[in-house]
Amino acid sequence: MSRPDRQQRRERLRQLKREQMNAAFAALPATDEQLQQFFDGVLLSLQQSGCDHTRRFAIEQIHHIGLNESRVLGWLDDNSGFCDCEIQANARQAWEVCRDGRSVL
Ligand SMILES: [Zn+2]
Repeated sequence: MSRPDRQQRRERLRQLKREQMNAAFAALPATDEQLQQFFDGVLLSLQQSGCDHTRRFAIEQIHHIGLNESRVLGWLDDNSGFCDCEIQANARQAWEVCRDGRSVL
């Protein structure tokens, strides 16, 4: 493979990554500030009471912050947040990747 081809491939990969990141940003159901508050609130409740395999703390936070419930729950479904502890383990990470990725684009 010639050098220009390799450069084109690398540029194409970079472009794909940017598109994926942009799609992930666009899918976020709330602002970074709101999501920070959401995840911190869920974490605090988990530390106090533990996970009962539902999203009760997430739903409390959604109402407390005034988020769009169906949008947030749909996004949690897409990011493996099916109970409060999975929300901390999986969905929080998905949001953090987006948040941190924004600064390197
Ligand atoms: Zn759980």
